[in-house]
Amino acid sequence: MDGMDMSVRNLTILGATGTIGVNTLDVVARHPERFRVIALSGQHQIERLAEQCRCFRPRYAVVLTEDRADALRARLADVDVEVLAGARALEHVASLPEVDSVMAAIVGAAGLRPALAAARAGKRVLLANKETLVMAGRFFMDAVRDHGATLLPIDSEHNAVFQCMPQARPVADGEAHARSAGGLPAGVRRILLTASGGPFRARPIETLAAATPEEAVAHPNWVMGRKISVDSATMMNKGLEVIEARWLFDAQPEQIDVVIHPQSIIHSMVEYDDGSVLAQLSHPDMRTPIAHALAYPERVDAGVPWLDLARTGTLTFEAPDLHRFPCLGLAYEALRIGGAAPAVLNAANEEAVAAFLDHRLSYPGIAATLERVLDRLSGLVAEDLDDLHAADAEARRLARELVTRIAA
Ligand code: NDP
Ligand code: MG
Repeated sequence: MDGMDMSVRNLTILGATGTIGVNTLDVVARHPERFRVIALSGQHQIERLAEQCRCFRPRYAVVLTEDRADALRARLADVDVEVLAGARALEHVASLPEVDSVMAAIVGAAGLRPALAAARAGKRVLLANKETLVMAGRFFMDAVRDHGATLLPIDSEHNAVFQCMPQARPVADGEAHARSAGGLPAGVRRILLTASGGPFRARPIETLAAATPEEAVAHPNWVMGRKISVDSATMMNKGLEVIEARWLFDAQPEQIDVVIHPQSIIHSMVEYDDGSVLAQLSHPDMRTPIAHALAYPERVDAGVPWLDLARTGTLTFEAPDLHRFPCLGLAYEALRIGGAAPAVLNAANEEAVAAFLDHRLSYPGIAATLERVLDRLSGLVAEDLDDLHAADAEARRLARELVTRIAA
């Protein structure tokens, strides 16, 4: 069990070689007396993973394929690390008895099964992989509750909302849940997710047809992986976050609003019945929410500079334009439809974004693909996880077909 004591916390970091993983290790390295790394995972960046193993000396390192495992073993011949391969190995290191906390920072649908394994093993789950909640929110939240896991959001908006909620408690701990009737906590009226608006917020709308992957991934405030950077440009990222908030905080779609705040200083807000709005502010640096979740309920130095508001300048807000950002509207639509619709939208988005990054699809082609896939497949059933995986596969197949057709 995790507790209030200062004993060392043992970590598994899934997706250690990615942006979130690297930031997590940066915070961990600042507090060697608090955190110990038990397992790390990566996929393509074998060199970086080897370096991380040398530095943090985990017991296990996991990659997906045997040939990569061999490449990693060759680089770590003189280091005492057991190298494992395969998707099942990810689930294994997510549920080791000696592990307290699992950082779930794999990108995309591939992150679902290991995050679920961590929840089923009753871990503290530090959830960055928002796709887990978008695809399988109900099943994941049930697993968290049924197995006494503790869920702490890493996504900066949700971490901010969590901090602004009454008596911030882990999003799902059995005890708090038993006393609540479900829904937002008493006195909370609305969640306000902030969005930067990304690189295309003010670009003339008629020029978006020619937007390139390089322009889309050049985010004004955040340094992130390529997929989520494109999602920020289309605002699908905010759409996925609306769905994520629905599950994390048990909110209805109409209780979640999005406001554009280009400076990315306020990371989200919670509105109360008495008119109070609580906000969390910090530099746009993922180490702040990561450190918050790693040390929760304590606070530790994240290595982030102090916020100097007098030098931050003006903070502005505007309503999102759904004509410019149709993906945000599609996400609300998928959420209202429910069932497999969010999983369908997520899968189609992964395919469309990959095609766009690969210069096989235009920027407006992303939203066009998603709209058609959602239109055709939103009625798929979602009785269990197998149904969701099937819906995911079907949506990918259709999205790929549409991408080829749109391109031709
Ligand atoms: P990155 O692309 O930077 O990193 C992804 C990580 O997952 C890497 O370690 C990568 O390994 C690994 N990986 C990729 N594909 C697979 C696969 N099929 N199986 C197993 N591992 C895989 O992404 P980010 O760190 O930016 O994002 C990670 C997650 O966190 C995403 O779900 C994202 O939405 C979420 N998130 C990210 C934020 C950010 O600021 N970056 C903010 C909020 C949420 P390798 O690189 O070695 O190939
Ligand atoms: Mg976010």
